[in-house]
Amino acid sequence: MLLWFRNDIRIHDNPALDYFLEQHKGVDPAQAIFFVSEKQWLAHDWSTIKIDFIKRHVNALAEQLLALNVSLQVVHCDDFSEQVSFLKNYCQQHNVSEVVANKELEVNENQRDKSCLEQGIPLRMFESDVIVEKGKVLNKSGEMYKVFTPFKRAWLTYVKQHSFPYLGKPSPKDSTTPNSQAALTLNTPLHCSNESAAWPLAEQVEQEVIPDFYRYKVAGYGQKRDFPAIKATSGLSPYLAIGAISPRYLLLLFIQRFPDILVASDSEEFTWLNELIWREFYRNLVFHQQSLSKHQCFNPKYRTMIWPNDPELFQAWCQGKTGYPLVDAAMRQLNQTGWMHNRLRMVVASFLTKHLLIDWRWGEKYFMQQLIDGDLASNNGGWQWAASTGCDAQPYFRVFNPIRQSERFDPKGTFIRKYMPELAKLPDKEIHFPHQYMAKEKLSSYWPAIVDHKQARLAALEFYRV
Ligand SMILES: Cc1cc2nc3c(=O)[nH]c(=O)nc-3n(C[C@H](O)[C@H](O)[C@H](O)COP(=O)(O)OP(=O)(O)OC[C@H]3O[C@@H](n4cnc5c(N)ncnc54)[C@H](O)[C@@H]3O)c2cc1C
Repeated sequence: MLLWFRNDIRIHDNPALDYFLEQHKGVDPAQAIFFVSEKQWLAHDWSTIKIDFIKRHVNALAEQLLALNVSLQVVHCDDFSEQVSFLKNYCQQHNVSEVVANKELEVNENQRDKSCLEQGIPLRMFESDVIVEKGKVLNKSGEMYKVFTPFKRAWLTYVKQHSFPYLGKPSPKDSTTPNSQAALTLNTPLHCSNESAAWPLAEQVEQEVIPDFYRYKVAGYGQKRDFPAIKATSGLSPYLAIGAISPRYLLLLFIQRFPDILVASDSEEFTWLNELIWREFYRNLVFHQQSLSKHQCFNPKYRTMIWPNDPELFQAWCQGKTGYPLVDAAMRQLNQTGWMHNRLRMVVASFLTKHLLIDWRWGEKYFMQQLIDGDLASNNGGWQWAASTGCDAQPYFRVFNPIRQSERFDPKGTFIRKYMPELAKLPDKEIHFPHQYMAKEKLSSYWPAIVDHKQARLAALEFYRV
C-alpha cells in the first residue's frame, strides 16, 4: 500500500492518511510519496513563494510522518504524465495493492487520476479540502446552486443535519509497531529558498494564530475586515490553499468556541464563517463546472467579449503605476509580500477589468504567479465576481471608484503610506488622489493617473452594454 500526498500536506484531519494507517497496522515500514513537479507547477502559474511554502511544509510533513512510522519519499517528476508512469512502475515493482490519496479539484489533476485508473493503478480517493463534500449541497431539482445565499442556507442545513467526521491528529500509538524506526529514512530535505519565511509552519499556526484569532479578533472581524491597514483577518488562506490546515478542523474549533454559530447568522463571528462558506461555494462551482479550470467565463453571455487589452496599461497595473494610490499600494503589497488584502483584491480586479478594460484572465494569471495563497477556485471566483462574468457576480454596472474606496477603507492613508513612502508626507485628505495637490505644491514624485475615473467608468458601461 502507498500513501500519495498531493494538495493535503498535513497529518491533522487527513482522511487518506487515516485510512492508510488503519489498513497498514502491523506492516512495517509504511511508505508515502510526494511528487515535486516544477514544470507542471509553472504551467499552472504557481508562484515561487507558494512553491517555497509547499516545500517547507513537505519537509515538516516528512518529520511528522516518521513519528508515525511512515517514510515519505520525495520524487522529482516534471509533470503529471511522468507521475503516472512512475506510479505504474512503482506499483508493479512493489506489488502495491492500493494507492491512497485525497482528491484534487482541478481538471488536469482529475485527468491525471483518471489516467492512473486507466493504467491499472489501484487508486483509492478521499476528500480533504472542504467541510461538506463537494456535490452534496444541491437545490431541490438536484442541481448546483448558482447563487451564494441559497447555497449558504442549504450548506448550513447540511452541516446541522450531518455529523461530519473529524479525524484529529494520528498519534504514534495509532500506527505500526515502533521497532521499525530504524528502517525509516528521511529523504534529504527539499531545498527551500525561504521566500515564504514570514509565514510560520501550519503547526505553529494551529497552536498560536488560530486560537488567538478566535479569542481576540473574530468578534471584530465584521467591522474591521475591510480595512487593509488593520490586521483583522485570519491570514489562513495560504494554509488552506495547500491543504496544510483542514477546513473541518477550523469549523470544529469554531463551533467549540461559539456553540450557536450555525444558527447565529447575524452575529459578528458569523461574518467570518461566511467567508469560509464562500470558499466552499467556489470549490463547488469548479467541481460542477470543470470549464472554469480552463478559464471560461461562467456566464455564457460574456464569452464573446473582445477585450481591448492594452499591454502598456497592463504593465502599469502590474507594477503599481496607475496613478491611483490605493491601487498602486495594493499591487506593491502583492509584489513585495505575495499576499493582498481581500478588499484590495476586489479594488484592483475591478480597476483592471472595468477601468482598463483588460481581460480578467490576465489578472487571474498575474495573481496566481504572485500569490502565496494562489488557488484556482477562489482566484477564479474572485476575478469573475469582479469582472461581472461569474456566478453570482457583481452587476456589470457596478464600477468601484478607487478614490472613494481609498477614502472609505484607508481614511488616513495608513496603508498607502506603508507601501508608497513617496506619498507618506501628504495630508490625509489629499493622499487618495494627490495629483492636483502635488502640482499645486510643486511636488512631482508620483506618476500621472493612466485613466480618468469618470471617463473610464462610462467606457466600461458602454463596453459591457455592447
Ligand atoms: C480577485 C480575487 C482573487 C482572489 N484570489 C484568491 C486566491 O487565489 N486564493 C485564496 O485563497 N483566496 C483568494 N481570494 C479570496 C480572498 O481575498 C482571500 O481568501 C483572503 O484575502 C485571504 O485572507 P485571510 O486568510 O486573512 O481571510 P479571512 O478573511 O480570514 O477569511 C478566512 C478564509 O475564508 C476564505 N475566504 C475569505 N474570503 C474569501 C473569498 N472572497 N472567496 C473565497 N474564499 C474566501 C479563505 O480561505 C480565508 O483564508 C481572492 C479574492 C479576489 C477578490
